[in-house]
Amino acid sequence: MAEKITMGADGKLLVPDHVIVPFIEGDGIGPDIWKVAQQVFDAAIAKAYNGKRAIEWKEMLAGEKAFKQTGEWLPAETLQIAKEYIVSIKGPLTTPIGGGIRSLNVAMRQDLDLYACVRPVKWFKGVPSPVVHPEQVDMTIFRENTEDIYAGIEWKAGSPEAQKFEKFLVEEMGVKNIRFVGDSSYGVKPVSSQGSKRLVRAAIKFALENNLPSVTLVHKGNIMKYTEGGFKTWGYEVAREEFGDKTFTWDEWDQLKKQHGEAHANEVQRKALHEGKLLVKDVIADNFLQQILIAPKDYSVVATLNLNGDYISDALAAEVGGIGIAPGANINYKTGYAVFEATHGTAPKFAGTDSMNPSSVILSGCMMLEYMGWKEAADLITSALQATIMRKRVTIDFYSLMSGATLLKTSEFGKEIIDNM
Ligand code: NAD
Repeated sequence: MAEKITMGADGKLLVPDHVIVPFIEGDGIGPDIWKVAQQVFDAAIAKAYNGKRAIEWKEMLAGEKAFKQTGEWLPAETLQIAKEYIVSIKGPLTTPIGGGIRSLNVAMRQDLDLYACVRPVKWFKGVPSPVVHPEQVDMTIFRENTEDIYAGIEWKAGSPEAQKFEKFLVEEMGVKNIRFVGDSSYGVKPVSSQGSKRLVRAAIKFALENNLPSVTLVHKGNIMKYTEGGFKTWGYEVAREEFGDKTFTWDEWDQLKKQHGEAHANEVQRKALHEGKLLVKDVIADNFLQQILIAPKDYSVVATLNLNGDYISDALAAEVGGIGIAPGANINYKTGYAVFEATHGTAPKFAGTDSMNPSSVILSGCMMLEYMGWKEAADLITSALQATIMRKRVTIDFYSLMSGATLLKTSEFGKEIIDNM
């Protein structure tokens, strides 16, 4: 009989061999890509473990399907199930217009406090890319998921709230540099030490566990000194205070340079890296967007705030083949709660056409299998996906950019992956 995943006393997940995993099929193209992905997962697990392990899928309602059946876009029961079963997976969800819901995804991330949005970006050989060396792009983004302007604290110009807030800024805080008083909307950007530290901590742990060379803190601290700048300062603090014996930081380099000169700082860094220490560095967000085009090799794990992370994820995804093949996960490393998801939206124009690329949700499932410790099944899927792409038997997004390719429907592409296992 299938059972739930539970959290062990040591903070590690206990995953039964026959496990129940809840899923949300999603809106728009969601049902098409989810159906195929589920078949791929089941085939890989059956092949990898000969029936010793299996997933029993349990549907949770969200989005249009939930609204039609229950009158609610994100029923409380769904959030309850996601917590009870700890690990779940979802397709894309429509963002309802009006009705006070900013975004179902954001609501889920906030309710489960899924503070780390983890997005690996890696090129599969043969995937069409706009850059000359896509194989040099191999990064994992840790995007802070609960703070920043995504907290949704904003008021529309002319509203009583905006007026009240403006009055407070001008009269009580002595703010003098609002360019158009009486005509401005306002947004508030909360960034905390706790929020920044838990995210950077997760990024550093991931880098150490996977033997990766560096963690880069991407921020806009030159302009937003206490929010984005705070993120950088707190990030370096975590590296120094909690991983001091395993890391070397650019913060330390700066201090060494001040005290003993640049040559000495470089020598200490060289020695530290030679000993296998993890380099923790930082880069300003605008510069980072050019660095990922001209020097992607220099970056491995990336830790950043919410909005930067949103831009960076799509820019990096484009370098390795676009959002059709970009997986993601939202994780709270303390409770273990994790929701794996396709990073693209519902592409409503293509709903029901059986034509879109299911790779994003399939690779999100691979991340989920790895999170559960079922690496053999995940590896089977990634190599079968690679083989399918090498045979140039692909969905429309890749087909239109490849020469000599065969166009497959979503369902045919899934079957091809299964045949290649
Ligand atoms: P989108 O990601 O749905 O689609 C943009 C374009 O990307 C599509 O027109 C299509 O050409 C391409 N694309 C998307 N998925 C693809 C796939 N699997 N294979 C091949 N090509 C693919 O973005 P949008 O049109 O801006 O948003 C549509 C809806 O999705 C909105 O309601 C939005 O709020 C929602 N959304 C949801 C999520 C999520 O659930 N995580 C993320 C982004 C947007």
